[in-house]
Amino acid sequence: LLEDQEDPPESLQPRPPVVVVMGHVDHGKTSLLDAIRKTNVTEKEAGGITQHIGASVVEVNGRKITFLDTPGHEAFTAMRARGAQVTDIAVLVVAADDGVMPQTVEAINHAKAANVTIIVAINKIDKPEANPERVKQQLSEYGLIPEEWGGDTVFVNVSAKKKIGIDHLLEMILLVADLLELKANPNRPARGRVIEAKLDKGRGPVATVLVQKGTLKVGDYVVVGSTWGRVRAMIDDKGQRIKEAGPSMPVEILGLEDVPTAGDELVCVKDEKTAKTVAQIRQDRLKEEKMQQSKISLDELFERIQKGQLKELRVIIKADVQGSVEALKAAVEKLSNEQVTVKVIHAAVGAITESDVTLASASDAIIIGFNVRPEVGAMSLAEKEKVDIRMYRIIYDVINDIEAAMKGLLEPVYKEVIIGHAEVRQIFKSSSVGTIAGCYVLDGKITRTSNARIIRDGVVVYEGKLASLKRFKDDVREVAAGYECGMTFEKFNDIKEGDIVEAYEMQKVES
Ligand code: GDP
Repeated sequence: LLEDQEDPPESLQPRPPVVVVMGHVDHGKTSLLDAIRKTNVTEKEAGGITQHIGASVVEVNGRKITFLDTPGHEAFTAMRARGAQVTDIAVLVVAADDGVMPQTVEAINHAKAANVTIIVAINKIDKPEANPERVKQQLSEYGLIPEEWGGDTVFVNVSAKKKIGIDHLLEMILLVADLLELKANPNRPARGRVIEAKLDKGRGPVATVLVQKGTLKVGDYVVVGSTWGRVRAMIDDKGQRIKEAGPSMPVEILGLEDVPTAGDELVCVKDEKTAKTVAQIRQDRLKEEKMQQSKISLDELFERIQKGQLKELRVIIKADVQGSVEALKAAVEKLSNEQVTVKVIHAAVGAITESDVTLASASDAIIIGFNVRPEVGAMSLAEKEKVDIRMYRIIYDVINDIEAAMKGLLEPVYKEVIIGHAEVRQIFKSSSVGTIAGCYVLDGKITRTSNARIIRDGVVVYEGKLASLKRFKDDVREVAAGYECGMTFEKFNDIKEGDIVEAYEMQKVES
């Protein structure tokens, strides 16, 4: 629903980078974020209360950088698990005395899986034990090679505590942002992502939204996940009431009907009716999904690969000793064939942790545990996130299972592709062609040859084909979102105002 339209290149304008800070616990993520925020606070503001909306905007040489406030990769990966890519750059914090630690490696894998550019901040360089060269050496083993060694990763030495190198880090973020050519069209209805949401006793549902394209304005009608609303007020990270927010800007919005979930998409629509209708369809879908909920299994992942929704089988390996990790990784990756690539996205020694599960969920991966068990919490999270964890004691069994699942791959299949929705707004009776539905196309498009189902109050009341599609008096081949049209359906006259027409095509999936 509410499919996005590409913006023409000439409409695109530079936008600020969105940055997340990641790294091992105690390496200084929180301190670094604090130090960064303080570079901007004027004397006057310093005494005031800083607003906590989940993200903050820092200005450097007249340019803005947006930082997500939640340090660590959990929040960021949880978003990605919901299909939300909000960050452009990850600042990987590594303490110069400690060097690379397990969560550093995890952070690298999370950032890589999300295709986010990494900038390394070597922190705590004020400490006598600090050894930045060793950190560079260690990180180069994970493909993060400093520029002076011929690589392309930016390294900056900082001390969050003594405020050393902070400005340089910010300048480097801008430099990397320039290379990424981050752009968005500010002159269009807004789209964004929820990064935080809660129910506030006095103000009702409150959501912090990161605007990704377009400009969000007070008074706009929005659909957010499966809820909707009209933006009553917007507050920025400095606590100021604002009327408009452009690309990469985080804003707290009031006026939603219900509390959305972090990662939900916000889409600005043209009127209350559209907002309500789309939210209703989504709620119905959620209900349906809940009813059909089951664990994602290896078989299901293969089914999705088969339908063309996934091109590789991603695997996370946790094993008792390094030797097993290496052996499993090699054996599993060797199973790749023409149809499917088997890719190990993370492999390490140790128990299966909650972080492994979040990574698996975000990447549609399965977890293979070899002579290890899940930690407390990891199993229940896996159940909630529907992640398949498989425990083995024999490498041969691992190979056998994956191979068996891969064999079921060769039959050609058809998949349904939804191409658009329309709402019935008026009914005309005609003695010659029966009932004509006067429709408004909500998203995507409707084509003359598409299959159609009619949904009334969340229930499918018709499955069939269009008998005619007209704009005014003319037969047309297709009608795009935002336009009105008239439709009739094969062997169906019982159409009503408020019905939703879902148009879809069956596509053959090449196996
Ligand atoms: P986080 O767990 O990664 O968010 O780490 P924190 O920001 O909470 O920092 C962990 C500890 O390291 C705290 O005691 C900080 O005071 C200390 N710390 C952070 N940055 C520096 C630094 O640049 N130099 C020194 N000496 N200590 C630091």
